[in-house]
Formats: sequence, structure tokens, C-alpha cells
Amino acid sequence: MKTITEIEAELRAFDPMKYGRSRNFLNGSVTALGPYISRGIIDTRWVMDLLLEQGWSYHQAKPFLQQLAWRDFYQLVWQHKGDAINQDIRQEQVTAQREGVPAALLGASTGIDAIDEGLRNLFETGLMHNHLRLYTAFLACHMARSHWRESARFLYAHLLDGDWASNALSWQWVAGTFSSKPYVANQENINHYTSSHQRQTYLDKAYEELLEEGIPTVLAEVRPFDLKTELPASEPLQWNANLPLLVYNYYHLSPTWRCDQAANRVLLLEPEHFEKYPVSSKVLSFALDAAALIPGLQTFVGSFNQLKQVAQGSTIMYREHVLARHYQGEPDPRRLMIDEVQGDFRSFFAYWKRLEPKLMKTFSKR
Ligand SMILES: Cc1cc2nc3c(=O)[nH]c(=O)nc-3n(C[C@H](O)[C@H](O)[C@H](O)COP(=O)(O)OP(=O)(O)OC[C@H]3O[C@@H](n4cnc5c(N)ncnc54)[C@H](O)[C@@H]3O)c2cc1C
Repeated sequence: MKTITEIEAELRAFDPMKYGRSRNFLNGSVTALGPYISRGIIDTRWVMDLLLEQGWSYHQAKPFLQQLAWRDFYQLVWQHKGDAINQDIRQEQVTAQREGVPAALLGASTGIDAIDEGLRNLFETGLMHNHLRLYTAFLACHMARSHWRESARFLYAHLLDGDWASNALSWQWVAGTFSSKPYVANQENINHYTSSHQRQTYLDKAYEELLEEGIPTVLAEVRPFDLKTELPASEPLQWNANLPLLVYNYYHLSPTWRCDQAANRVLLLEPEHFEKYPVSSKVLSFALDAAALIPGLQTFVGSFNQLKQVAQGSTIMYREHVLARHYQGEPDPRRLMIDEVQGDFRSFFAYWKRLEPKLMKTFSKR
């Protein structure tokens, strides 16, 4: 777990041009900021502001800003569509013949060495490179012919940077249900980006031949995804009735949020949320470690309404989020890189078309 000061020092040394050249390769120069952004410890605006401070020009920073923009885009889609992102958005997944997660993903035994190593590493560290996520999703959706949803829940559960918008919508992008066509990769592509040299596999074919045969034997079995999140015990809350309640949650663990204000600070862990979107104990531990860096933060396991009863009329403040819509109180607005570009965009490129001129203007003013 890094502190904000440590993250900042790393980001000041980060070169977005090198990122642009190398980010698709497994050993590329990516930031590993995902867990800190997804848990709401920092946000995309904070990252952009630091790039500005470092003096990068728009064109130097563009490849990186574009990836940050994917995150903001997915957040907006979630905000506008809500739970509808759990269904195929634009069209049905044409390759889906069944529900469930391929057992070979659960056991890291797909027979594709780079993917298996990536899955083992994921279980151990909670991290996975973007390209390996694409390959894994492609394998589950198109080679194993399973619907994206259960496999997405599985991957989300193991990712330190699990964010349901980025996760579900990236799966939909691969599945072809939120993009113009399904994403496909063959062994040659995997070898190129992962420095592996495997040949003679069921993926060692031309793109157009990949889906011609049936499901590879190694991907035949699918299982429902079943995981119970082991939530910590609730602490008896130390309460000061004269102070407001500041609510933190799994998506909002910012140590700088209203940090100078005297308040009752509570991390709310709602069992109902974690039943719908379970996470592994490693992933939950990361969030709890982040929570431990917020001075005076106490943990409450229960529903928002139960917490509200404890708050007994104190002003309740929280950060606006799709998953906090049932909270009552005074929400602080969410922050995007450029807040004025809002809307229900049909595609990333529709969003980017509106965002890019504003980003250029922001960088030209520095
Ligand atoms: C199947 C699949 C599932 C994914 N699930 C998640 C998820 O649960 N949570 C999540 O944050 N991202 C997810 N992504 C997007 C992307 O893989 C990760 O954001 C990225 O790999 C995180 O590594 P990094 O922090 O080193 O990113 P960097 O490449 O250094 O980028 C910096 C930040 O930009 C944002 N970003 C970069 N690429 C993307 C992208 N393609 N889509 C959205 N945001 C991006 C992230 O916040 C990231 O931390 C998923 C992608 C795929 C294909």
C-alpha cells in the first residue's frame, strides 16, 4: 500500500511518451495506478493536474490522457445506465452459448502459457496487465463461448483495481456487445506482446480460422462463479453527536477528502453490495489497508439505513457514486478530468470528440 506522497513521487518520474510506446507490452511502462484510482484514493483529475504541473505538453501526454479518459467514460456510462450495464448494451453476444466461468480460468489451466501465468499472478498479487485481461476475456467469451457476465464477476473479484464500470464495460467491449465487433487475438499476437514463444496451440491460427471449430476441450467445462466476501466485524462506533458523519465506502477511500474537517468518519461496508459484487480476501485487505491510512476512520458493517440510525440526525456527507444512490445526505460531486463534459455517450469516440478540445485547452493554459 503506497501513501499519496509515494504515488505522487512515482507519477512525477513517469514519462507518458514512454507509456505511449510501450503500454501494450507486458513489460511496458504502465503506472499501476489502477488500485488507487478504483478505490477512490486518487482520481483522474488529480493525475491530470500532476501531468500539467510536470510540464508535459498535450501531445506528449495524449496517449496516457486517452486511457484515463476511458476510465471517465466508463464511469459516465455507469452513471447514466446504472444496472443496465449488467445486460448486453448494444447487441447480444453472438458467441454466447452458455453462462458460467470456464473452469480453466479458475484453475489457470487454459493451456495458453501467457494467460495461465497471468491468472496465477492475478491470484497471487491482484494485478493483471490490460492486454492479458483482453486475452482472458476473449478466451472466455469467444473460445469458450460463455456469456461475459459471470467471468467478469470472477475477474473483478480478484483485481485490486476492480471497478464494476471499467470491468463490465471492458468485458462488453471484448464480447462485442458494447463495440462494433468482437475482440479477437491469436497466438501470434499473444506471443508478440507477452514475449512468449508458444506454438501449436488452439489459438495458433489465422484470425478468420479461430472460431471455425467447436469449443476447445480444455475450455469445455464452465462453472457458476461463487464467492462469499469475508467482511470484517463491525466495531462499536465512537460517536460525537455534535459532528457530521462522513461516509466512506469501497469506492471512496480518499484520505484527502474533507481532511481538515472535524467529523465522525465511517467506512460503510454493506453486505448486500458484496453479495452482488464479491471480492477475494486479498482484494478486500487492500481496501482495508487503504482505509487504515485515513485518520479516525471506523468500520461499520451493515446497511446505510442502519448507519443512519446510529448517526441520529447528524449531517451526513458522502461522495456521489452510482452505488451510493440510496444514501441520504449531502453528496459531494464526483470529479472527472473535465467535469463539464457530461452525458450519455454512445461510444468512447463520441466522448473523446467532446473531451479532446477541452483537454487541449487545459494543457495550452499551463
Ligand atoms: C476484461 C477487462 C477488465 C478490466 N477491468 C478493470 C477493472 O475492474 N478496473 C479498472 O480500473 N480497469 C479495468 N480494466 C481496464 C484496464 O485493464 C486497467 O485499468 C489497467 O490495466 C490498469 O493498469 P494501470 O493502472 O497500470 O493502467 P495504466 O495503463 O497505467 O493507466 C492509468 C489509468 O488509466 C485508466 N485506464 C487505463 N486503461 C484503461 C482502460 N482500458 N479502461 C479503463 N480505464 C483505463 C485506469 O484507471 C488506469 O489505472 C479492464 C480491462 C479489461 C480488458
